[in-house]
Amino acid sequence: MPLFEYQCKSCGRRFEKLVIGSAPSVSCPACDSREVEKQFSTFGFGGGRRDSGPVSFGGG
Ligand SMILES: [Zn+2]
Repeated sequence: MPLFEYQCKSCGRRFEKLVIGSAPSVSCPACDSREVEKQFSTFGFGGGRRDSGPVSFGGG
């Protein structure tokens, strides 16, 4: 299930959202801001290290 976690950069609220398709328009459910940042869930990625730098999603 394409469920991703986001964090609002405006109010800091974290929420999950079902993402279907690419580059969906996600907005904060609390303040309706679009300044949200995609988070990585702790499950399904094996291990717990998170020392990666900025991740870019092949946008092109
Ligand atoms: Zn917000």
